[in-house]
Amino acid sequence: MAKIGFIGVGNMGGPMASNLLKAGHAVTVFDLSQWHLDQVAAKGAVIAASAADAVKDADVIVTMLPAGKHVKDVYTSSVFDAAKPGVLMIDCSTIDVDTARAVHATAAERGFLMLDAPVSGGVGGAVAGTLTLMVGGSDAAFAQAKPVLEAMGKNIVHCGGAGAGQAAKVCNNMMLGIQMQAVAEAFVLAEKLGLDKQKLFDVSSTASGQCWSLTSYCPVPGPVPTSPANRDYAPGFAAELMLKDMDLALAAAKSFGANVEMAAAAADNYRRYVSEGGKGKDFSGIINQIRDTAPKG
Ligand code: NAD
Repeated sequence: MAKIGFIGVGNMGGPMASNLLKAGHAVTVFDLSQWHLDQVAAKGAVIAASAADAVKDADVIVTMLPAGKHVKDVYTSSVFDAAKPGVLMIDCSTIDVDTARAVHATAAERGFLMLDAPVSGGVGGAVAGTLTLMVGGSDAAFAQAKPVLEAMGKNIVHCGGAGAGQAAKVCNNMMLGIQMQAVAEAFVLAEKLGLDKQKLFDVSSTASGQCWSLTSYCPVPGPVPTSPANRDYAPGFAAELMLKDMDLALAAAKSFGANVEMAAAAADNYRRYVSEGGKGKDFSGIINQIRDTAPKG
């Protein structure tokens, strides 16, 4: 069993670190939030006084931080200097591909093995240990990381070299962000046409409009009892996190030259939703923005 240094034990990192403990690993944690540290200490983690302290004896280092700037900061100001030579580093945060590749490059120069391994599945998946992990990095790093990744997730895909995990994550969430708005627009149009929402669900959930945003996360209350629409759009997956992911997609498209017109329009809508009352709501609440901005006919 490995000695793991884990930095960033928030909503996702906390349960992921708990699952590493459950699998028998020794986990030392650091976070800026004492509350989050206490939650995971109650499961058996050792609390470190700093990021450097958390990683100094570790065989494997895992980070789960909000965004690219936090990842860059933590690695360059603490982790690279404090880690033992040659250890394996796994960044599970969702960040931009450019930063992921830059951190990989520094890790390689300094002789460390590194993976980007962003996740999908939300807090529920993190707690249950059923996350999908999209992994970028060398075959050697992936082989070494597998037992650690398997303690946190169920579907683990080695997507390619440095940054490939983030590339998969950004493409997946761009699809999700656009699809949710397509489903929401269809339900608002159905309302206007006098079509019962359950009937639309019964048709489209088995017809060509079928997608996860409809069948698992339906944006109107009723057809999918577990969807956030049934609890006044409490997240779930917050609208501002969806906006962050859409912006990552737009930035990647700009850097690498791809046409993402649908994503750009969808991102504008999420931006308006977040600034006009959707902050703190689930991203599927975008249906209310769409309904409220319908042209008067
Ligand atoms: P969170 O804000 O709950 O957790 C992030 C943690 O990092 C916080 O506890 C914060 O205190 C800590 N932190 C920030 N800067 C730090 C530093 N310098 N040193 C130590 N700790 C620091 O966020 P989350 O929901 O756990 O998300 C983490 C990552 O996972 C994000 O990149 C997010 O996009 C991604 N993600 C989230 C979900 C979700 O449903 N919440 C799903 C998939 C992916």
